[in-house]
Amino acid sequence: MDVETKEKASGNGSSDTKKLDALVIGAGVAGLYQLHLLRKQGLNVRAYDSASDVGGTWYWNRYPGARFDSEAYIYQYLFDEDLYKDWSWSERFPGQPEIERWMQYITDRLDLRKDIQFSTKITEAHYNEDTNRWTVKTDQGETIDTQYLITCCGMLSAPLDKIFPGQDSFKGEIFHTGHWPHEPVDFAGKRVGVIGIGATGIQVIQTIASEAEQLKVFVRTPQYVLPMLNPKYSADDVKAYKARFKEFQEVLPNTFTGFEYDFEVAWEDLTPEERRERLENIYADGSLKLWLASFSEIFFDEEISEEVSEFVREKMRERLKHDPRLCDLLIPKDYGFGTHRVPLEMDYLEAYLRPNVEAVGVRDNPIEAVVPEGLKMADGTVHELDMIIMATGFDAGTGALTRIDIRGREGRSLTEDWGNAIRTTMGLQVHGYPNMFTTAVPLAPSAALCNMTTCLQQQAEWINDCILYMRDQDRTVIEPTAEMEDAWVAHHNETADATLISKTTGWYLGSNVPGKPRCVLSYTGGVGTYRQKCDEVAAGGYQGFAMR
Ligand SMILES: Cc1cc2nc3c(=O)[nH]c(=O)nc-3n(C[C@H](O)[C@H](O)[C@H](O)COP(=O)(O)OP(=O)(O)OC[C@H]3O[C@@H](n4cnc5c(N)ncnc54)[C@H](O)[C@@H]3O)c2cc1C
Repeated sequence: MDVETKEKASGNGSSDTKKLDALVIGAGVAGLYQLHLLRKQGLNVRAYDSASDVGGTWYWNRYPGARFDSEAYIYQYLFDEDLYKDWSWSERFPGQPEIERWMQYITDRLDLRKDIQFSTKITEAHYNEDTNRWTVKTDQGETIDTQYLITCCGMLSAPLDKIFPGQDSFKGEIFHTGHWPHEPVDFAGKRVGVIGIGATGIQVIQTIASEAEQLKVFVRTPQYVLPMLNPKYSADDVKAYKARFKEFQEVLPNTFTGFEYDFEVAWEDLTPEERRERLENIYADGSLKLWLASFSEIFFDEEISEEVSEFVREKMRERLKHDPRLCDLLIPKDYGFGTHRVPLEMDYLEAYLRPNVEAVGVRDNPIEAVVPEGLKMADGTVHELDMIIMATGFDAGTGALTRIDIRGREGRSLTEDWGNAIRTTMGLQVHGYPNMFTTAVPLAPSAALCNMTTCLQQQAEWINDCILYMRDQDRTVIEPTAEMEDAWVAHHNETADATLISKTTGWYLGSNVPGKPRCVLSYTGGVGTYRQKCDEVAAGGYQGFAMR
């Protein structure tokens, strides 16, 4: 294997070229584990992140109210019992500061920091067909020559922060939730506008409603929401979940969504009363279980979807005190429960009942521009604001990579390729881009249809095993065949098309980004099934992946 060397960059006499076996982009959940695994097998590997510290999602999304929707005790690395047990969570769904501290704990325990370069953005990566290696460039002017390029760039890491004309003209403060400042932000005495009521907007709104003098929420697509039950943990609670470590190791990788619960009963096997009782019981659990483990039929059968949707709507109507305007704006009618990302919340709906909070509908009167005083609507109305919070989401799945100039064989561009059609082989590689491995990209389970630590660990392990295998077999180049990729895309699409998710719009299908090819981004065949398929490929000597 290569040892780290420094040699003059060809064609660029001004900088040194660092030589690596593997370069990992990203120091979030995936990147940290990938770095750890590859380093353990003896590779000369280095991770790069544009952030100034580890954490990925949990570094960037430090907005007020940011917290888990996964139970903390399952949003975990499960490869080391001591690592798991030496950290204790304070509550069931902790907030961002605690999660960020946990990621720093992981980093320090695994001694990863020395092999991570922070505050460095990867700007381009070009595959060199003569050397079968990648030439990677950073915004710090460095060039790195690496055999493997491993993208751990995140599914939700490319913020959609430049959406409206005139943003630079705003006289007040403007923030995107995914780029939240490290300094405290004061809402007292301010007229604040929040754009967007996805999972993030909801967390912001419920948190700052009591702090801002006036809060205007600009509402386009209503969301089904579920109340979160978030008990603080006593020492006994912590002991009890830690005692389940082995169970989690067994269970999480094999459920439909990588959570601890799974679909257990069929709709048709229960009477209407029993169904209602089951829904009520699961609703009272205060978790995502109603979505991810009540009845799998909600993803496939329109009638059952409608019945469960109506159950959730009824709960929402009650909490909104049946206010006709609020119910019309905030309760979904035209898509089924669970076909969009379902947020958990705490007193979110009740926030709209406060005198200082106003929901402004933008479905029929969209935001036209940001003006110095605030937001200007299509009908000319101006909402005067001191602060705008853009909870406008991300270019999910593809955005982090298409914002890098990635060139594969024959100079093909990933940005252009994915601009035409979003294709991957099992979300692990892309045909035309040899020796590039990917995590958290489309066509693999993700985006709350998976507890992401479960899925990202599996992907990082698959990549690590694959590279080990290649070294064992004395192979240096790997690329999925066109046939393999065609087959996976066809399987993915067939699986996705059978679900009601495919009949909707929203970021799950990329329709929040103008011009993005329509595609159900997450694999919908289930986390356990996906894992099995990946394992089969590996056990068969990586069939469908050409190696030389
Ligand atoms: C607000 C929010 C809440 C969430 N809650 C949950 C939850 O409860 N449960 C769950 O399972 N999932 C949740 N997710 C999904 C979450 O993204 C994943 O759980 C997980 O943290 C992703 O880890 P990752 O390593 O794949 O990517 P990330 O954590 O996104 O890390 C990617 C890193 O790559 C870096 N990067 C990207 N491009 C470049 C580049 N060109 N150069 C240098 N660095 C680059 C980024 O700076 C970032 O630090 C949430 C996401 C968000 C946004």
